[in-house]
Amino acid sequence: MEFKTIPSQKFDLPKRIARLGELAFNLWWTWQPESAHIFGKLDYDLWERLGHNPIRFLREVSRKRSSRFSKDGDYLELYDEYFKKFDEYFTSLTWTKTVYPKFNGNPVAYFSMEFGLHETLPIYSGGLGVLAGDHLKEASDLGLPLVGVGFMYAQGYFTQRLSEDGWQEAINNPLTFEHLPVSLVVKDGKPVTVQVEFPDRTVALQIWEVRVGRVPLYLLDSNVEGNTEFDRLLTARLYWSDLDRRVMQEVLLGVGGVRALRALGIKPAVWHMNEGHAAFLTLERARELVAKGSPFATAAQTTLKQNVFTTHTPVPAGNDEFPLWLIDKYLAKFWHELGLTREEFADLAKHQLPHTETFSMPILALKLSSGSNGVSELHGQVSRGMWNFLWQDKAVDEVPIQHITNGVHTANWMARRLKQLFGRYIGDDWYDRLDDPATWENLDDIPDEELWAVHQHLKRKLTFYMRERVRDRWTHGGFHPVQVVSSGVLINPYALTIGFARRFATYKRANLVLSDVDRLLDLINRPNMPVQIIFAGKAHPADEPGKQLIQKVYRAVKQAETGGRIIFLEDYDMNLARYLVQGVDVWMNTPRRPLEASGTSGMKAAINGALNFSVLDGWWREAYNGQNGWSIGEDREYESNEVQDAADAEDLYQTLEQKIIPLYYDHDSKEIPHGWIAMMKNTLQTVIPQFSTRRMVKQYVEKFYAPALK
Ligand SMILES: *Cc1c(COP(=O)(O)O)cnc(C)c1O
Repeated sequence: MEFKTIPSQKFDLPKRIARLGELAFNLWWTWQPESAHIFGKLDYDLWERLGHNPIRFLREVSRKRSSRFSKDGDYLELYDEYFKKFDEYFTSLTWTKTVYPKFNGNPVAYFSMEFGLHETLPIYSGGLGVLAGDHLKEASDLGLPLVGVGFMYAQGYFTQRLSEDGWQEAINNPLTFEHLPVSLVVKDGKPVTVQVEFPDRTVALQIWEVRVGRVPLYLLDSNVEGNTEFDRLLTARLYWSDLDRRVMQEVLLGVGGVRALRALGIKPAVWHMNEGHAAFLTLERARELVAKGSPFATAAQTTLKQNVFTTHTPVPAGNDEFPLWLIDKYLAKFWHELGLTREEFADLAKHQLPHTETFSMPILALKLSSGSNGVSELHGQVSRGMWNFLWQDKAVDEVPIQHITNGVHTANWMARRLKQLFGRYIGDDWYDRLDDPATWENLDDIPDEELWAVHQHLKRKLTFYMRERVRDRWTHGGFHPVQVVSSGVLINPYALTIGFARRFATYKRANLVLSDVDRLLDLINRPNMPVQIIFAGKAHPADEPGKQLIQKVYRAVKQAETGGRIIFLEDYDMNLARYLVQGVDVWMNTPRRPLEASGTSGMKAAINGALNFSVLDGWWREAYNGQNGWSIGEDREYESNEVQDAADAEDLYQTLEQKIIPLYYDHDSKEIPHGWIAMMKNTLQTVIPQFSTRRMVKQYVEKFYAPALK
């Protein structure tokens, strides 16, 4: 290859264990259970202190320690075994190679505005990004040829701090690239760049590569010499809230992304848009054919066969749409290049609203894709209704939008102890068979005591982690004592613990459980039956109602009457998410149905044995069977939000009081709650196979990727 990548860091390591440096630059390590030891054994304190960042760790670990371990027999045994697995991973025969040999050499290009791969690479804001990250990891495990395309945000997503009064403060710090697992793509010693033209100027992008197992992820970055100061910041942050920069960002992703893949010599067979942000890629691909002489209509028809679009938004208002004057401002050159008039161009994505018309990114994607899908069964239905007007000759059921329910990457989210337990009782190869429900039939063989011991261990781990975080915050100052209490220092590792962590958007109704505070306080403070609720989540910095909601929750959390049992943890990210989903007893979710397109955090909790307690929306509506958790409200539409909120709140309190709390505290003389554990087993059996990215990515291949190859 004429291309090279220059890693952001080189390490000074003894030769015998020098491959640790290679490993640090492949995120494969993030989903291997032994990784914490492969790195950590060299210096556990440092590994923790640096937040599990192998790049910083390898740079800072003392040469004395690394030399010692390079001669330590036990360590070398672990090391050799680990790297044997690493090497085998890249050569193993895989599902895709056996089923779809045609893929070889022609990858799926997967475009997403954000990718949630690991907490040390903060280029994601929430569920959409984590889903994209899990998609990449699964593609790698399956051996599906796939490349990701996104942005290298120089400032990352913000760090959240709450003031004493619960007001969210967003801290944006420039990322230190030398601490990140990114490599600059170069050719002949110079960074490879691509250009994207706007009417008044050209913006250059350089490309960073992140290795995710076998899958490369290419991240565009406008912070290059020659661009204006303004342009250098275009890719600095996720989702600029001013529409000007949003349009430009999306042009850079769609148009710049296609050009980046061309510059790298990659020839995708399928182009998958994860949400509408990347929809300009459809036009750039058509433009390539127009430049070779095709009329636009032919070019669009030819290229759309390879385009796949996944929508995640269940409300028209939540969609990415731009006023037409903005499209004029930034895309005037583009329609000339497509051989279209302004009207023809606007028509490609026109959304006619009562008083205005807009350029809608999802409409563009829907019209120029051969396959489109929502992310749960209900969301598929809702989407067909929502976009029915684009196919006026079709009935709702015939609208060509299917659904593939989201999943989570099992190895990434399941606790190590639980994986080991499954290894013993289900078989060492359970991971290879994880999406087959038959694999989990023998789960009942696991003695209740053993499963409970693992769960208790993970719960204690969560409580220790919470205390260490508070200690750190308190020590660094600027933290009021009442915030210390609100951050969980009074947590009891043996009390029933409910997690509620997600983006604070108002439709998620974080305050539903607080709608009758007196009733809640009575429920959580009963003698011998304490209940704890842990909240966490960020609001988009420009989302005032979201921030007010955090404040409302925080004010309730701070009351002394809660006894320190209601907790708010700052700065929800993938690391905190991992502790929470692995450590709580119940995962609660209260979206206003049907606005949760899918949701994935509840799946992460379920595959660790937590019981979901959720509105019958998104994925839970498909998973809930009456024995693997609880529902909130009914599976239907309500006449108004007020009626729905009141009915859901009443149901929530009743279920907590009459079912959840009594079951949890119903245990035998050895404190083993057998009824509860039976539900845990049912949840593991039903959720692990079905709500995995293993099942999900295979469905993408079967329904969309493979047909597009023909
Ligand atoms: C999984 C995850 C999400 C998505 O959660 P939902 O509320 O279920 O959509 C958001 N943020 C983080 C950090 C996650 O890990």
